[in-house]
Amino acid sequence: MRNIADTLREAITSIGDILALDPTASRIEAQCLLQHVLSVPRVYLLAHPEQTLSEVQRDAFDALLQRRLRGEPIAHLLGEREFFGMNLKVTPATLIPRPDTELIVELALNRIPHTQPYRVLDMGTGSGAIALAIAKHKPNTEVVAVDVSQDALAVAIENAQRLKIPNVSFIRSDWFSALNGQRFDLIVSNPPYISSGDIHLSQGDLRFEPLSALASGADGLDDIRRIVSAAPQYLTANGWLLLEHGYDQAGSVRDLLTQRGFVEVFSEKDLAGIERVTGGKLPDSK
Ligand code: GLN
Repeated sequence: MRNIADTLREAITSIGDILALDPTASRIEAQCLLQHVLSVPRVYLLAHPEQTLSEVQRDAFDALLQRRLRGEPIAHLLGEREFFGMNLKVTPATLIPRPDTELIVELALNRIPHTQPYRVLDMGTGSGAIALAIAKHKPNTEVVAVDVSQDALAVAIENAQRLKIPNVSFIRSDWFSALNGQRFDLIVSNPPYISSGDIHLSQGDLRFEPLSALASGADGLDDIRRIVSAAPQYLTANGWLLLEHGYDQAGSVRDLLTQRGFVEVFSEKDLAGIERVTGGKLPDSK
């Protein structure tokens, strides 16, 4: 009979050895998996180390642990990921929301007024993370979220329903293709931006995420170029475009925005001190 403490100890060792994670990360992962199987908060595991697992619980835990040891992302095993204080359903159909992406949400929220009507477009919404965070915190906005993937949209729509966020709508669209004639005050996107030759695509969590949400041509900028080039036709005068990008792309994205006529072009650093979001404003005269 294995109890909670033994189960965690063995799992921490396996995760550390096989996935080469440090002890803290291994412990957090083992705890997350066991919390999920037992449907208890973390504090319960700490308070009841001697509690024995039933056979069903033990089998369920072992099955999840084996999948994790084969590399499947924790978010896929739990079926959810926390983002900007919301619990989002996550499946292999979308990118797993990253903590770094909270930056683009904050930059968007800072630009949105509190009361007057405001239209926001989220391009390549995936799980809906950015669109839902903005819609939730700015009830005066009307958020439109697009994705080319029907499977991703199904996840995003379920997240909106679960979280009861009414001011967001979802449209299947290949970037701007389904949005003719529409104008937005703010466009945000966390598009694919990894170079298609990048070795990281064959490592870690990225192996289990949709390539279409990650890779974008030889320099990773193909989709960003498409978005920047078309965005002025879909923005109101003084409208903002905010883009997440890779660690070494800020200068290129600033150049693209400036060349396309955007003003007040800036880049902002993420939690790790890396320039992660670049934005610009459409001038009045456009
Ligand atoms: N930030 C992600 C990573 O480097 C990539 C996300 C993206 O391509 N939009 O793993």
